[in-house]
Amino acid sequence: MIRATAEDGMIRAFAATTRGAVEEARSRHDLSPVACAALGRLMTATLMMGWDMKNEDDLITCQIQCDGPIKGLLATADNKGRVKGYVNNPGVMLPPNAKGKLDVGGALDLGVLSVIRDVGLKEPYVGQTILVSGEIAEDIAYYYATSEQVPSSVALGVLMNHENTVRQAGGFIIQLMPGAGDELAEKLEEKIRTLESMTTMLDKGMTPEDILRLILDDFGLEINDSQPVKFYCSCDKARVEKVLISAGRQNLEEMIAEDHPAELVCHFCGKKYEFTVDEMKVLLDKAK
Ligand SMILES: [Zn+2]
Repeated sequence: MIRATAEDGMIRAFAATTRGAVEEARSRHDLSPVACAALGRLMTATLMMGWDMKNEDDLITCQIQCDGPIKGLLATADNKGRVKGYVNNPGVMLPPNAKGKLDVGGALDLGVLSVIRDVGLKEPYVGQTILVSGEIAEDIAYYYATSEQVPSSVALGVLMNHENTVRQAGGFIIQLMPGAGDELAEKLEEKIRTLESMTTMLDKGMTPEDILRLILDDFGLEINDSQPVKFYCSCDKARVEKVLISAGRQNLEEMIAEDHPAELVCHFCGKKYEFTVDEMKVLLDKAK
């Protein structure tokens, strides 16, 4: 992903191509095409939002709780281009929408977007807005406009191959800073209205740089920085053990009573951890 400014800092912009990270999420969680499109869009936005945080240990989570058959989804990113996430109903299937596209809005339906910033304070900062379309890009733009008073244009897209792997994924966020006049806002809006979809541009071979140049060249674009992105989960066996210990004795006693190895799956990345009965007995001694 890249970040840039234009119009002497009145415009800031991010753009990303996230195919690898989204394909990894798809294969780890065995996502259906519409689940993959939803999570891929959310992961892409969360990556760009995460890069915008100041400190190495800061984390941002975008969570969607919704009524639709996808039953909610979540993505978490840090400021170094690392993202993880999951969908509550990874196998959700829906017919295409009226435009013949994957029906992400139908999969989500009504709901709430929560943006949770964990910046090392006692309590994380949480902003919440309702979903306006469930298509995610509009929902992120609405979040920025209402919760942070930052007018933003957001595009997010995931295109699948016929065999249901990820062909293209990516997005951009373009924001106006305080003091940008209405004239600039209108000029920018007009430019963005003429664009093809994110995945069409990516599928033509356009890079994030090409896409921001296309939109912002007339506005004195300056590309400032770039950052690789990847799917990453920090789970390991020691962390899963801690969870088991903190879940209490009863839970472990029940697992031991079944008298066969237990398999635990990390919610975020789908990695499986196996515990033998003897290992669980050791954990039981440590549990309260
Ligand atoms: Zn994990």
